[in-house]
Amino acid sequence: MTVAHPHLLGLSRAALSDLIRLWGFKPVHAQRVWRHVHAHGRDDVDRITGLPGGLIDRLRAGTALAWLPVVRETVSSDGFTRKFLLGLDDGRQVETVLMRYAGRVTACVSTQAGCAMGCVFCATGQMGFERHLTTAEIVAQVLHVARAAHSAPRTPHSALRNVVLMGMGEPLHNYDATIAAAQILCDTAGLALSPSRLTLSTVGVIPGIIRLADERQPLSLAVSLHGATQETRAAIVPVARTWPLGDLMDACRYYCDRMDRHIFYEWTLIDGTNDCAEDAHALGALLRTQRAHVNLIPLNPTAGYDGTPTHIKAARAFQAILAEYGLPSTVRQRRGIDIAAGCGQLAADR
Ligand code: SAH
Ligand code: SF4
Repeated sequence: MTVAHPHLLGLSRAALSDLIRLWGFKPVHAQRVWRHVHAHGRDDVDRITGLPGGLIDRLRAGTALAWLPVVRETVSSDGFTRKFLLGLDDGRQVETVLMRYAGRVTACVSTQAGCAMGCVFCATGQMGFERHLTTAEIVAQVLHVARAAHSAPRTPHSALRNVVLMGMGEPLHNYDATIAAAQILCDTAGLALSPSRLTLSTVGVIPGIIRLADERQPLSLAVSLHGATQETRAAIVPVARTWPLGDLMDACRYYCDRMDRHIFYEWTLIDGTNDCAEDAHALGALLRTQRAHVNLIPLNPTAGYDGTPTHIKAARAFQAILAEYGLPSTVRQRRGIDIAAGCGQLAADR
């Protein structure tokens, strides 16, 4: 993607309209371009029908539309998960995952190359921070998965319905580009994702959570907790020292009140670290007064951390304790582990 020209995937519908009007063309032409790019998911300006020739020339010379090239695609042994290694303009790479559950497709999308937050059990954290992705680079990943979902041979009817911003990176550390991408993806004249089916997962960047609430951003929010006391959490999530648990809970309550909705809490279950009965009771007590749903994710293996995943029986026991506090929870289906496409396994250096 070139930086010299605006990338069409990074412009909102209003910004595209302004640009095309500035060039002396009509709003209807801007609408055609928008639909071609976002509703039809096409990556060529030459094939847009009903445009004046002069506009096609301006678009070709003054904007970019290239998608991210696929460097490698890996398919899990059960065929339900496909991982794409995509190339960026500067030679860096990011990973995007297509997950197929009964009749629906979910895209797991990256918001940064690498991550600065350093969670010890996460492959992206282990690789360190490279750079923020642009809005266009985030949108391009989703369009790629939407097209790949349609081109799958065995299940012609499944379409992309859900997007989770849970790939590489911390979305609230790249707030502006991420939220601009979310708005483009939910634009009703484009891909038209339902905002509640677009879930942003954060490690707990408090200023970002407050901003989401103040701006009333309609997407769903997941907060990665992993520890129910400041001490347990800070041992595996270093940024808990910057954004302590007590303050994080205040921000989450503020978010739920202002948005009038619940939060998903994610908890990576690590044997002997955060999965005993005491941990479950602490979590239950912490969240008992909140509107919350807990997603329990048995640890996926990464090269830089030698923890062991909690056994499924212990995960069920953990869940049973949460239920005593009236706290609903789900043990996340393990997907794509054989191709390192599971939560926390994404890193571009394989
Ligand atoms: N940076 C954001 C989103 C990307 S990580 C965040 O941390 O929330 C997506 C989820 O995968 C987070 O809940 C994260 O804690 C979890 N995760 C990271 N490494 C993992 C691993 N090795 N096994 C299981 N889950 C992991
Ligand atoms: Fe970054 Fe999320 Fe991985 Fe932590 S878990 S290092 S915040 S991507």
